[in-house]
Amino acid sequence: MRTETIALHAGYEADSPVRSVAVPIYQTVAYEFDSAEHAAALFNLETEGFRYSRISNPTTAVLERRVAALEGGVGALCLGSGQAALHSAILSIANVGRNIVSVPQIYGTTHTLFSHVLPHMGINVRFAASDSAADLERLIDADTMAVYCECVGNPAGNVCDIEALAKMAHGHGVPLLVDNTVASPVLLRPIEFGADIVVHSLTKFLGGHGTTLGGAIVDGGHFPWDQHAKRFPMLNEPDPSYHGLVYADHFGSTAYIERCRNFCLRTTGAALAPLSAFLLLQGVETVALRVERHVRNALRVAEALRKDSRIAWVNYAGFPESPYYPLVQKYLGGQACSLLTFGVHGGVQAGMRFYDALRLIKRLVNLGDAKSLACHPASTTHRQMTPTEQAKAGVTPEMIRLSVGIEHVDDILADINQALAAAQAGQVELASAFNSQR
Ligand code: PLP
Repeated sequence: MRTETIALHAGYEADSPVRSVAVPIYQTVAYEFDSAEHAAALFNLETEGFRYSRISNPTTAVLERRVAALEGGVGALCLGSGQAALHSAILSIANVGRNIVSVPQIYGTTHTLFSHVLPHMGINVRFAASDSAADLERLIDADTMAVYCECVGNPAGNVCDIEALAKMAHGHGVPLLVDNTVASPVLLRPIEFGADIVVHSLTKFLGGHGTTLGGAIVDGGHFPWDQHAKRFPMLNEPDPSYHGLVYADHFGSTAYIERCRNFCLRTTGAALAPLSAFLLLQGVETVALRVERHVRNALRVAEALRKDSRIAWVNYAGFPESPYYPLVQKYLGGQACSLLTFGVHGGVQAGMRFYDALRLIKRLVNLGDAKSLACHPASTTHRQMTPTEQAKAGVTPEMIRLSVGIEHVDDILADINQALAAAQAGQVELASAFNSQR
């Protein structure tokens, strides 16, 4: 089935006797056992079923099956946010003394996780000079547990050469872990190009309504963990945290995602609430339609900005002159997502006046909402990074990031136009109480 159909149907069949067409919300913490023997079999992973909602829940399980189907993976695990998903994805395979090799163009909080949180646990993240396979390869050694990239970087908009990165990583016996949040599985299915693990912030395009935080880890099921037993003992040797379970032997192709659930989620507890899973499913149903409109509107906005003499520069990989244009054709079917960045003539001050003058487009930190959103990465999402780190991540002081929404494009363009005019005339009416106090 195609993406549009999967988004509506995958992972759910009406259950007897109610036959609810909508996915029911199983708002329960626990599940009744038939007997002591049944309980033991569940905890021994000998029989399928639900034990406790921190580990799995029937509503969340539908979302997991649907996201796995959208990405073409063998299984998925949903968690409370995109950051929780990435954290668990890494903790499930990396421990003290090990390292991750990453591209530099990543979301600011991920950068903080990599530079300031994982190192406290003895996991070092090595940042490559660029997103090229050659630059990443230089940093790999016997303790590297994953190569990491955002398929499309937030906010840099760089498109990673997934096939080249996967080939390079696999040559060293290392999996490729990608964040596919910005592209979404509507535009890109990284597993088809060799990625092994895909993480998502479901909060963004998949949810799409800006109501609900959530994250997912998807297991491609192709990485031969058993052939790299020395590097990955946690999947190939008895796990003392689960009374001696050997994940690769017990689960085969789903070994990794089962470890994410039974080692990481079970013990660290960043579970997704069933109501959140239900709300996210409402969004997933329409993701293909929304992304189509997001992309079409973003192209119109990018073209209008490029023509506008009040704009100093526009970064949008859908322009033929972008170095990433060929990768947009190869990986995104020619559709350059709906994030774009630009600078207003007049530098940071002019940019801030433009930002403050927006009326329709929301000032906030989020992306992938149906509504158009604007953010100033240097002072918000990427604020914890040093100026050098920001520059490597593709963040400049004057940069404004737009997540172009699905409103009528003429209304989006009109708002940008009026904000540019107000910024130039210096007549910015500060919208919020916070702004008027500044
Ligand atoms: N990945 C990317 C690319 C993001 O932009 C974000 C948030 O903006 C996240 C992950 C984190 O997602 P969440 O806010 O759901 O934790």
